Amino acid sequence: MAKQDATLARIRRFLDTNRPPTPCLVVDLDTVLARYHEVRGRLPGGTVYYAVKANPAPEVIRVLAETGAQFDVASTGEIDLCLAQGAKPEALSYGNTVKKASDIAYAYDRGVRRFSFDAESDLDNLARYAPRASVYCRLLVEAPASTTPFGRKFGCTPRIAVELLRRGAEAGLDAAGLCFHVGSQQLNQEAWRAGIAQSSEVFTELARHGVRLRSLNLGGGFPTSYTTEAPGVTSIAGTITDAVAEHFPAAPPELLLEPGRALVAEAGMIRSEVVVVSKKSTTDTTRWVYLDIGRYNGLAETEGEAITYRLSSDRDGDPDGPVIIAGPSCDGDDVLYQNSGYRLPLTLRVGDYLDILATGAYTASYSSVCFNGFPPLPTYCIGEMAGG
Ligand SMILES: *Cc1c(COP(=O)(O)O)cnc(C)c1O
Repeated sequence: MAKQDATLARIRRFLDTNRPPTPCLVVDLDTVLARYHEVRGRLPGGTVYYAVKANPAPEVIRVLAETGAQFDVASTGEIDLCLAQGAKPEALSYGNTVKKASDIAYAYDRGVRRFSFDAESDLDNLARYAPRASVYCRLLVEAPASTTPFGRKFGCTPRIAVELLRRGAEAGLDAAGLCFHVGSQQLNQEAWRAGIAQSSEVFTELARHGVRLRSLNLGGGFPTSYTTEAPGVTSIAGTITDAVAEHFPAAPPELLLEPGRALVAEAGMIRSEVVVVSKKSTTDTTRWVYLDIGRYNGLAETEGEAITYRLSSDRDGDPDGPVIIAGPSCDGDDVLYQNSGYRLPLTLRVGDYLDILATGAYTASYSSVCFNGFPPLPTYCIGEMAGG
């Protein structure tokens, strides 16, 4: 917590000095870098690919590229962004299994040589438009669900993975390995163990057919402590190291990681403003607190109250009471929290700032439309690395 307090202090100093219009997100680049080096250090030998979708602010990409990070990209737009911020094409991994032939050709033309896939049609496009590229088959891992799971959208069964990687090798592709993703904000470390165990069976089966995989991409999913404490990177790295030793006793694969949330969430804080405080009837004890930020201009992950952010205001410590917290748009679903037991100070009033903590991931990147006339969430980057 002490480290996060220092981040918050820097962000608040920036906000209090510059007083930009709310809502806005401030990201501390020094914290992003510290988190990158922490993740990298805890899993020695693991290459870290930052999942750009978590926070694509150009400044974030630039400091990570300068420190030698690699990037998990999902579209031609993210490729252009990373290259423009100084990343080398060798440092990019096209991790999205849903892509057009023209997307593959574009990526290959820009120098990208590492791709994930989970379907035959995509594999055939890779063989044709990205000849000899290194390919990773995405496994649909049977593991405990995470807080914001992918469901069954990505990946295939081990059996299909074996077939597809053989087909890829025959088509001249470099059958490099497997990838999986245990789901974002994964609180159960056993999910990584399950993924590693299931992957080892595919490695073994393919070796029997003369295809020797060498690489295992463990994806992202490393959680952030929001209102409840989440397991840290050290602890998860321990589970991963154990599971690799257990399931790959002879020849451990090279490991790749694709953290998104874990690198940027705690580096960011959103400042919002209280727009309305009201009660729906004279007998209600619960207040409705309406903010200038909601589901559609930055807080998409509050859907289903999946992610419960910590809130803070200058009135912290005053007596509090129950609240329902809602966003500013004219949409009935734009209610952030009504079942999670949120309480806010009774003294909170219109015009007060409400700070939303650990919001550097999946906030600004989700608010790229202008629903109901509320503009996308602006991001300000600060820190030594940002030059001010
Ligand atoms: C979104 C995504 C990630 C990052 O996930 P986090 O839960 O933010 O760590 C990594 N890899 C792929 C392929 C993704 O789609």
